[in-house]
Amino acid sequence: MIQINVLKAGSGDCIIIKDTENKKNILIDGGVAATYEFSNSKRKTEPGPLQEELQKIADAGESLDLVVLTHTDNDHIGGILRWVESPQFINHKDLIKRVWFNSYRTMAAYFNTEEKEKCLIDIQPCVGPETSSAQGNKLENYLETHDIPYQRIIKFGSGWTVGPMKLIVLSPNQQTLLTFFKKWEIENLIPDDETAGKQTDYDQAIAQLIDQDTYTPDASAPNGSSISFFLTYNNKNLLFLGDAYAEVVTESLKALGFSAKKPLKAEYVKLSHHGSTYNTNDELLSLIDCSHYIICTDGCHALPDKACLARIIAMHPRQKTLTFYFNYDTVRQAVFTEDELAEWNIRALEIDEVKL
Ligand SMILES: [Zn+2]
Repeated sequence: MIQINVLKAGSGDCIIIKDTENKKNILIDGGVAATYEFSNSKRKTEPGPLQEELQKIADAGESLDLVVLTHTDNDHIGGILRWVESPQFINHKDLIKRVWFNSYRTMAAYFNTEEKEKCLIDIQPCVGPETSSAQGNKLENYLETHDIPYQRIIKFGSGWTVGPMKLIVLSPNQQTLLTFFKKWEIENLIPDDETAGKQTDYDQAIAQLIDQDTYTPDASAPNGSSISFFLTYNNKNLLFLGDAYAEVVTESLKALGFSAKKPLKAEYVKLSHHGSTYNTNDELLSLIDCSHYIICTDGCHALPDKACLARIIAMHPRQKTLTFYFNYDTVRQAVFTEDELAEWNIRALEIDEVKL
């Protein structure tokens, strides 16, 4: 049996996939730093959900057979950085068997470019400007110190098998990886603030959003570098889209032979970029046959966009119930009205774990 735990990871992603029979575990991202540990109101450090899950895995004598760091934005890498810097990491470092992470150093070797010293600046997480690239390098140094294998470029065409679970990478592709690498070399990649101060669109009706829909592609270079993949287990597919570009995922699915006539049947899709309207488009949706979508966010940056979910609703056959899973109940309650749920044959549920 496969169990997917969608942890409360603030504005970020942190997902654990467990194969309970074969005792295999895959961790996708670590959420923001507080997903690992946080200070309570009395300034006492408390374990976050990631630390609790890692402790359970360690106590059971199991490992993280694969850790996927989709990309270097703080809401994906923050919890992992907090973990590797904590004293417990010394006890837990043997937990990690393999890491998928397109670090600066890995990319420099891959693109045959001499490493630039300035790109290897080591900073503390959560101090000063939280630059994406510097955080990535910090983790890279830890991985090397602890002999954890990560030095392989992960892009479309890569794959891996963890027990009976088969993973096929859909993004990044050569181009988005190169764009990210070049940008990383030139400038400090400041996490995208395009959504800063943005209001939610939850007061707009689904029909209105469908009528007025316009799609603009995501232009964030770190998001373009995001690892996304589908996992096959027992002839069932799960899609984990990180913060990937819709265009890259679409191109890869087509290259794998999927089309509107022959879409990829998926049990669950973890929507890209916390349900942002910039990362899911009609063409991508036409290649996927799925009725269960997972949205990871605490509602920060006014995400998910209801416009994105409306796009999914518009593309989905109305007679089949469509389910959206939210890892924060406050978000679940905010997006749709009860009347909308009934009218459009959709369900909005809080997710903690799902079994397959
Ligand atoms: Zn993100």
